[in-house]
Amino acid sequence: MKITILGARGSIPIEGKKFLEFGGLTSCVLCETKTEVVFIDAGTGLINAPIITDKNVSMLLTHPHLDHLIGLPFFPILSQKNKIIDFYAGTHEGLNAEKLLDGLFSPPYWPCKINDYPADFRCHELSLPMQIGDVKVEAIKSNHPGESFIFKVSSEGKSFVYATDYEYDEKNAKELIEFSKDADLLCFDSQYTEEELLSKKGYGHSTISQGLKVYKESGAKRLRFVHHNPAYDDEFLRSLEKEIKNENVSIARVNEVIKL
Ligand SMILES: [Zn+2]
Ligand SMILES: [Zn+2]
Repeated sequence: MKITILGARGSIPIEGKKFLEFGGLTSCVLCETKTEVVFIDAGTGLINAPIITDKNVSMLLTHPHLDHLIGLPFFPILSQKNKIIDFYAGTHEGLNAEKLLDGLFSPPYWPCKINDYPADFRCHELSLPMQIGDVKVEAIKSNHPGESFIFKVSSEGKSFVYATDYEYDEKNAKELIEFSKDADLLCFDSQYTEEELLSKKGYGHSTISQGLKVYKESGAKRLRFVHHNPAYDDEFLRSLEKEIKNENVSIARVNEVIKL
């Protein structure tokens, strides 16, 4: 399985010379197997998605906060005529996958419906665990305002856990540690520093040291931090990374490819 970080910025996209290394595009990762391409989240990172001709295309949505959905209108694969895109989301505030997108793809917010694009876009309710071709998808609920999912995708004997938009606490961490047991890759939300977290309790995000605890206790093999605070530039993120001192752990960089 091959994982590509298409966007790892949290909350809002950002650009400029100070943000080139870690990137300013918001949450989106691409998981690729022999037969499948599975995107997780549709933040602005999705605008750099490759055109896919020879594999099936699916998308999993952790939750419909705007930073995870706002790239969808510009998803390049939507322009591939009759290409099937299977979109899976949970029900949020009583809105299922189809209704969630209907709200976004409606005037005056957007001029057309998602089914007006050339691709054949199909909405599905998440039904967990589930199998998408050679990819097994499991999930647990995240600790995040409005509810979000933490996905685990497994294929070819490898597994990847995507724990973005997650606020650590001792109680819910047990479930995440168990869920991430021996994962080949864990992505973990580290939007805040310890100091910043003091005034951001309840916002639904975590820190690097909390991620390191989950990583160590779960036995996950590699760790990448995601959902970077839009206020943190490359220099600051590098300074945070320097303190980690573990070659299997780093802060995710845009376009980073991780082969499992
Ligand atoms: Zn987010
Ligand atoms: Zn969120």
